[in-house]
Amino acid sequence: TALLEVKDLKVRVEDNEILHGLTLTVNPGEVHAIMGPNGSGKSTLSHVIAGKPGYEVTDGQILFRGEDLLEMEPDERAAKGVFLAFQYPVEIPGVTTWNFLHTALNAQRKARGESQLSSPEFLKKVRAVAKSLNIPQDMLKRGVNVGFSGGEKKRNEILQMALFEPAVCILDEMDSGLDIDALRVAADGVNALRSPERAMVVITHYQRLLNYIVPDFVHVMSKGRVVKSGGKDLALELEASGYAQFEDAA
Ligand code: ADP
Ligand code: MG
Ligand code: MG
Repeated sequence: TALLEVKDLKVRVEDNEILHGLTLTVNPGEVHAIMGPNGSGKSTLSHVIAGKPGYEVTDGQILFRGEDLLEMEPDERAAKGVFLAFQYPVEIPGVTTWNFLHTALNAQRKARGESQLSSPEFLKKVRAVAKSLNIPQDMLKRGVNVGFSGGEKKRNEILQMALFEPAVCILDEMDSGLDIDALRVAADGVNALRSPERAMVVITHYQRLLNYIVPDFVHVMSKGRVVKSGGKDLALELEASGYAQFEDAA
């Protein structure tokens, strides 16, 4: 079975229909890029998959390993292995990144029916993961995202993603606010988490991220629908031709 299946999804926010019948199938090991102009509904899709409140699904389905994702609470979705990262990282002054990650990981483990990690066990795990991703550990002692540079925020999220070991990672505009060096570091972290079991959905407005995270499939969204799908070369074509052609077609 597919990891994630979005079938003819229609979503309203307040009184406006934002997604007008969106279909997307993601299998284990695949990396899908979703591109499209601002306002085409990319973040709406990611929020609905993660279970963020404020969206009304009026038609269609989202299945995760064949199970109805829309019936699950957001924390249940996360526990099952759905991870949404990046667009608006929150700052939590007074809570160290360390404590935040320990608490979040244990909550997730509890929901999965796994044992709680003691501080020494968590220390061991977080050290190993941070090392594998080249993330400096001094960041962990600081307040969550407080005073973090754009690149540090992304690395923090990548660390969290690695600790949670999700089955499907949805990365919403991870390139926003990053200079090219920080982008490369963040992309290396994401690439390190690619595996035959795990899928990634990489949402971006720009083609350049896809030079670093090379997708298997590219989908173009316009006005709440997928209007074109193809291989990685589609991103390059778009870079040359722009989105306007799809605006007219949608
Ligand atoms: P993208 O991520 O592709 O830029 P969004 O999903 O953020 O697009 O937005 C899609 C459309 O939905 C836009 O027209 C936006 O104004 C509208 N929209 C998104 N969230 C809300 C909201 N909370 N209330 C009203 N309209 C919204
Ligand atoms: Mg936007
Ligand atoms: Mg967006």
